[in-house]
Amino acid sequence: MRIVFVGPPGAGKGTQAKIICSKNHIPQVSTGDMLRAAKANGLLPADLVARMDQGGLVPDEVVIDLIGRRTSEEDAANGFLLDGFPRTVPQAEALSELLEKRGTKLDVVLALDVPEELLVERAIFRRTDKRTGQVYHLKYNPPPSDAELEHRKDDQEDVVRNRVRVYQAMTSALLPFYAERGLLVQVDGVGSVDEVTHRVLAALEKV
Ligand code: ADP
Ligand code: ADP
Repeated sequence: MRIVFVGPPGAGKGTQAKIICSKNHIPQVSTGDMLRAAKANGLLPADLVARMDQGGLVPDEVVIDLIGRRTSEEDAANGFLLDGFPRTVPQAEALSELLEKRGTKLDVVLALDVPEELLVERAIFRRTDKRTGQVYHLKYNPPPSDAELEHRKDDQEDVVRNRVRVYQAMTSALLPFYAERGLLVQVDGVGSVDEVTHRVLAALEKV
């Protein structure tokens, strides 16, 4: 299966993506994770680091190149889940072209719907264990006492609100792009992780 997860920051894309990927034995491909890894290794140019820290998007060419390379790896031959890509219509068009050249296509685009106040609460209390990469939530999924917690710079409230604005501006064109192609399925992202997983699995069964 070739799945795309779309959703505002903090919607729960990464959380659900991990569950769906392990059930379906497909890799989770997150442009956000790839960019953060490049940043941590000092491989991301300073202007792109600044854009990420402020909650803006990095240029389309950068993420299109990352996705092109990652999805051509062997473990992605039978499917993958894209988490956080595409975010703009030019990215979506580039993805369609890339898959067409390989004689494949997307099966479904799942959009997780979560209202802004809940997004802010989910994002600002998000913490990641540096050693394991495991994502926790201070209120809903508290970390163990020995975790080495990291708080993403772009998970400060004002930056989260900016990222939500950026998301709304870009999806106003991206969601219709996929709706017109009959690929878009909206999933209610409010509720426990398990509840949302059930809705996602139900949506995937219909594909
Ligand atoms: P979240 O999971 O909170 O939605 P991500 O981890 O997907 O956020 O993205 C973090 C940041 O990485 C974004 O704010 C943006 O700067 C950059 N980024 C990630 N994916 C893309 C993309 N497809 N296009 C442009 N920028 C991206
Ligand atoms: P995204 O990848 O869309 O930015 P994450 O999956 O990282 O979102 O989730 C954001 C935060 O909210 C994390 O701290 C995660 O543990 C928590 N979270 C995710 N889904 C739920 C849920 N259904 N209920 C409560 N907290 C959640």
